[in-house]
Amino acid sequence: MTKIQLLDSETIDKIAAGEVVERPASVVKELVENAVDAGATAVTVEIKEGGISFIRVTDNGEGIASDQVQDAFLRHATSKIKEAVDLNHIQSLGFRGEALSSIAAVAQVEMMTRRKEELMGVHYCIEGGKEISFSEAGVPEGTTILVKNLFFHTPARRKFLKTPATEGGYIADLCERLALSKPAVAFRFIANGQVKFHTSGNGDMKEIIYRIFGRDFLKNLVPVEASTEGFSISGYLGKPVLNRSNRNFENCFVNGRYVKSALLYKAVEEGYRPYLMQHKFPFVVLHLSFDSELVDVNVHPTKMDIRLTDSIRFMEFLSHTVGQALKEKELIPDMEQLETIKNTTPVPQPVERSHVPEPFEEKRMEEYRVRESMQYGEEERKELFFTPQETRLEGLDSVSSGSQAEEQEKATKAVVNRSEKLSGIHTQMNLFEDRILREENRCRFEILGQAFDTYWILRYEDKLLFVDQHSAHEKVKYERLMAEYQKGEILSQNLQPPMIFHLTQKEEAALEEYRSHFEKLGFVWEDFGSHSIAMRAMPVELYGKNEKTFFEEILDELVENGCKGTPEVILEKIISMSCKAAVKGNQAMDRREMQALVEQMLTLENPYHCPHGRPTMISMSKQDLEKKFKRIV
Ligand code: ADP
Ligand code: MG
Repeated sequence: MTKIQLLDSETIDKIAAGEVVERPASVVKELVENAVDAGATAVTVEIKEGGISFIRVTDNGEGIASDQVQDAFLRHATSKIKEAVDLNHIQSLGFRGEALSSIAAVAQVEMMTRRKEELMGVHYCIEGGKEISFSEAGVPEGTTILVKNLFFHTPARRKFLKTPATEGGYIADLCERLALSKPAVAFRFIANGQVKFHTSGNGDMKEIIYRIFGRDFLKNLVPVEASTEGFSISGYLGKPVLNRSNRNFENCFVNGRYVKSALLYKAVEEGYRPYLMQHKFPFVVLHLSFDSELVDVNVHPTKMDIRLTDSIRFMEFLSHTVGQALKEKELIPDMEQLETIKNTTPVPQPVERSHVPEPFEEKRMEEYRVRESMQYGEEERKELFFTPQETRLEGLDSVSSGSQAEEQEKATKAVVNRSEKLSGIHTQMNLFEDRILREENRCRFEILGQAFDTYWILRYEDKLLFVDQHSAHEKVKYERLMAEYQKGEILSQNLQPPMIFHLTQKEEAALEEYRSHFEKLGFVWEDFGSHSIAMRAMPVELYGKNEKTFFEEILDELVENGCKGTPEVILEKIISMSCKAAVKGNQAMDRREMQALVEQMLTLENPYHCPHGRPTMISMSKQDLEKKFKRIV
């Protein structure tokens, strides 16, 4: 047998590097985290060939003292913690002291760094863990690290990398998340000589969302802000119309760190549950702050997972906050946006050609920040100026005849209107509309008519609403039944004569299994011998034309797919199935019935989606209609 021996430090570093440095994106992550920890307010990431051949991260942080540069590259060398107890209240992103040593073990690394109080800085080169040179150098304040030829002497590792385009994509995603995680840091990301995105670092999360995801996302945000003991939440929720097919758009940050946590995803999705169809996921950017002793980030070397103390309480609070925030906002999807959002991926806002300052150019950076935030403000201003009322003044109405004096007056009004808005702009910079579907607004809905025996067309001020009568009806029934059930007030309707059902063995078993649920819902039945039952009563809400078929459908569904979960989940499922069966599309409904249905919808917490997550209504604005007819551009 070969002799057992201790590994030398170079080998240990290489092994450890495998955990921290998996691909170019992991290098970028570590370097940017170091920059942020060093208090940088501006960070530039530049890559070539997907970061495989070249990564450069420049920051304007505190720099490293000349006599400590070499130490920084030793394994377990860190300035961020001193002893194990410090792990209980970590404020920095890094703390393991592994990144620089791991990166230097598997690439060619150059560092230039200078602290403010030092006249001269350092230029340090290290390759494969071996020091190549160390010299004094005149360099700007802050730190620049260059990482070249990743895995240059471990071809086996290099082979596992994907194409430069794919690796570059991972880095772009990562940089976006880093930018979202630190709104007060100006980020710039350059790939193959081209600036891909940049943020101004003015602390405004909406600006970053706009820069990275584009206008459609900006227009469909719901702000959220809440706190409880030891925990606070702030950020933006995408309206349900922004739904995606995977979790990539659930951006959760815990104490400023991007995390992928099944627990958090679950809590967020729970809050969205009434608004999204199954297998659809929301867009969110949420910053969660926990008292540092309540959260453990030292779960995995990449620090992307977390462990929480008192997690149930926090998660319930998170779900509740999300649900509550959505409840208060207008969520009718706009027809135009439904189309564009479905078909487009996020559109980062194009980067101008003008030179973006380097992190160390402080004065220019400040000027740039002001200019940038003004430009972004411009977008919001546009939103404000072209409010429908105003377009009416300037557009449609002026097409219709009228004396010149009238025209003049209208034009003046429009100008006054505009400058009034301008002066109130800071108070008014708010793109979030309040709900229109509320009881007080009842008289403002006008029913225009029905189409295809299924869709109702309503008008609300400058919007046309298209309501799917089936979904709407289903939703109203569902909510009412749920509410009655929760209050213990379900009313049963006696069936005279009783309705006889012949059941298969499986159906009998299912009915028996879910007996208590059915009973709680107001179903009353008794055995009628030879595999049949006599139904004596059922919930009033479901009483109508189809009760026989829908009861059979529920049983069918239970037999076929079963029902798993807590009693509440099962109950909800039974109720939602009942409602689905209790109403039908393609069934004429008269205006009075529709009026009643609309009025009921106005009383619901979430009138926007049926129990299965389908929308109950969509809208089209007058403005969009006018655009389509080329009355306005
Ligand atoms: P960690 O971040 O876990 O402390 P690293 O290996 O990433 O470990 O970095 C080692 C040390 O080098 C840090 O603790 C910090 O003192 C210093 N350092 C690394 N990068 C920078 C930087 N960009 N600016 C200032 N100091 C840095
Ligand atoms: Mg670090």
